[in-house]
Amino acid sequence: MNIYHITHSPRVGIVHLHFWGCNLNCRACLLKKELYDCHLAETKEGIFNPTREGSRAPERFLDLKEVMRILGKLEVKQVVLMGAEPATDHQLPQLVKALHEEFGSYNILLTNGFIFADLSHIDEVVFSLKAYTDELHRHYTGKSNKKALENFIRYHQSGVKLRAESVFIPDYIDCVEIERISMFIAHVDSGVPYRIDAYIPIGDNPWRRPTPEEMGKAVSIARKHLDNVSCLTGTEELKFEVLRVI
Ligand code: SF4
Repeated sequence: MNIYHITHSPRVGIVHLHFWGCNLNCRACLLKKELYDCHLAETKEGIFNPTREGSRAPERFLDLKEVMRILGKLEVKQVVLMGAEPATDHQLPQLVKALHEEFGSYNILLTNGFIFADLSHIDEVVFSLKAYTDELHRHYTGKSNKKALENFIRYHQSGVKLRAESVFIPDYIDCVEIERISMFIAHVDSGVPYRIDAYIPIGDNPWRRPTPEEMGKAVSIARKHLDNVSCLTGTEELKFEVLRVI
């Protein structure tokens, strides 16, 4: 499989499975800066360091049996399948089936939505909407967002529990674009929860971190269209400990 890294929060039984490989090339992809879970004690400060150098690719990947053997030693209630893009791994359906059968886990897929995943054993989808304006989406990710917008509607129609997320980038994906994304989500269903994350400076991008006031304004604008909007400013304390398993 494409899994190269696993973290665990023992108090709440949450496992994060980190997949390598993506079908987009986002300018603000955190993996360009940090390969490993950004909630670990050894990584959580470094991601805000502007001089930190980019990540290399992982050196080792786990097969399905190894993943299940490792998880067998842990308390597993919820499994988060996360980026890069888990849906590019052709063994994802086998994995989530095995997770349901072995642990009865609640399986959450974090995705950019370009691939419509087999939902037979996925309980929730967290969909990252990069931009609504196609030209901006192409500039940011290298691809048109047509497929992603279609798949957002398909995921909603499937009945799977659905949440949406975007990254707020001042003077780039800012309040105007956040409002366009919010209006698109509202057009599908104004009840879909939407989280706006503050941009973390990455690579040689020209953008700065947003201020708390800018994040507050983006949330207020999104709330004109959506019932449930939240944000992450990057200053939040972790609610529980995250440990590296591999
Ligand atoms: S979709 Fe996610 S993993 Fe893929 S390039 Fe964009 S930010 Fe990175």
